Formats: sequence, structure tokens, C-alpha cells
Amino acid sequence: MFLKPRDVPLELQMLRYLNVRMRLPPKDKQHYHNLEKGYEGEVIFDSRLVDLTSECLILPDLLLEQNRNIFQIDTSIIFQENIHLFEIKNFEGDFDIQADEWSTISGEIIKNPLHQLKRNESLLKQLLYKNLKIPFPVQPHLVFVNPHFTLYNASPEMPIIFPSQIDRFIKKLNGHFSKVTQKNHQLGKQLATRHRTDSPFTRMPPYNYAQLQKGIVCAHCASWMIAGDRKMRCNRCGRIEDNETAIMRHVAEFKTLFPEHKITTNTIRDWCGNTVSAKKVQRVLAKNFTRINHGKISSYID
Ligand SMILES: [Zn+2]
Repeated sequence: MFLKPRDVPLELQMLRYLNVRMRLPPKDKQHYHNLEKGYEGEVIFDSRLVDLTSECLILPDLLLEQNRNIFQIDTSIIFQENIHLFEIKNFEGDFDIQADEWSTISGEIIKNPLHQLKRNESLLKQLLYKNLKIPFPVQPHLVFVNPHFTLYNASPEMPIIFPSQIDRFIKKLNGHFSKVTQKNHQLGKQLATRHRTDSPFTRMPPYNYAQLQKGIVCAHCASWMIAGDRKMRCNRCGRIEDNETAIMRHVAEFKTLFPEHKITTNTIRDWCGNTVSAKKVQRVLAKNFTRINHGKISSYID
């Protein structure tokens, strides 16, 4: 059972918004694609976990702090007697290991994912043993989910699960009896409450309100939508969305990109590209938020 949903990381969410509304500098565009690919890999692994029949508690995406060290665990699974932690990679293509050095087959050195796994394991152990006083065995795994991935010179002793081994790995977990206890639940809850949402690793290109293209963006294909009387329609994929849902989606987007700005009828209408009437925007804001002040200086808060 999943103890919390896997949220889209804030950094990825913001880059998704910006990518539609501005031309991202090449470095940021690459970073955005990497994040998107990584997230896709994590979601693929989540979908494989539905085959787990052994009782367990699944915690996707934990950002934790131990002794001022921030560390991020893609997936943790608590069983009765131990906790498995997973570093998930969606690498595609051919890679090689020489000594301790990982590289693409064309020779480009990459960060050794086993080092990252080791660091996470060590910090999680410190957190469990020293802070939470729960000396629970930790089993680390590096999982590759992309079927178009090959790694030369890996050794069987490495804690790696290749795409062709995921099924067997899950069967193996199912073969171990596990009954989730009250203690397991407590641990899950403690880890979930320690999860931070303010990642210090976030890297954003500079942007400002004026430079961003305004309009209603389709939630499905990220194209522009056209507003109708009650509903919006996507130019490209034909998706239909009622006006209120679309406006609320864009309020959330605006708040994420400009947390310091006030929510007013005019700003949201402008953000939506003036495609909806002020009256409609005002009705949606009044229904979903609390209004402060009246007339021209009125704005809305949660
Ligand atoms: Zn669309």
C-alpha cells in the first residue's frame, strides 16, 4: 500500500509550466528533459509494484534531512522485518564501468549511481538508528527500468536490478512472508512527516511575468486551449475541460510561478490570455477563495 502519492517534484512542475510559456535556455531545456525522464522512470517502477502481494508500506519520493545532509530516496518499501530503498534510473543506451568510473559508451563520464545509493543508505541508517532509534535493516537497490539500457562490466555482487530482473525481484519479495505491524506503520508515518517539499537542489532559469506567454494550456498535451461559453477546447488533442477547472488549474500555476504576487481577477484573467470574461474569473475566484478588500483593490487568498 502507498502511504503517500508520488507528487510531481516542484522543480519539474515549474519547468513544465515555463517550457510552454518561454524559450528555455538549452542547458535548462536539457535539465528539464532529464527531470522528466527520471520522473517517468519512477512512475514506471511504481506501476510494477502493483504486483507486490507481500504486505508492505510504500513511500515514493522522500526528501529527508540527516545532520544537515539532504538526501532524496526515489522509493522506500517497509516490510515487517526490513526496509528496502531504491534508487531508480531511466537510463537509455549503452553504458560501461571501468574500475569505479561509469561512462556512456561514447566515453562521457557520469556520476556513479552506486555512490549515490551508498550515501542514501548510510544517511537513512543514521536517521533510523540514531534519531528515530529504530534499528531496522536497510536493503539498498539500484534499479534500471528502461528496456533499452545495457551496462557493460557490471558484476553480480553489485546491488543492481536490471529491467529483465524486475519481475523476478518482485516474485522474490512476494516469497518472503511479511505482515505489516503497528511499529511498521509508525516508522512509515515518521518518515512521511519528515518529508520536505523545499528541495535545495532546485535550479530554475531566470524568468519574469512580462516575458511569459499568456493563455490557457491543455493539461493533456500542453497546447493552447480556446475558451467557449462553459468549456474550453484544446486546439491540438481536442480535450474538453470546464471553465472552472481550467481557471483553477491556472490559478495554481500562477501561484507556483509567482508566489509573491496577489491573486486578483485581472491578473488571473491576464494570465489566461484574456480568453475568459472578468465576470467568469471573478465567479470562480469568489467560489474557491476568500476575498480580501473590495472593488479595485480586492484580491483572493486560500
Ligand atoms: Zn491538448
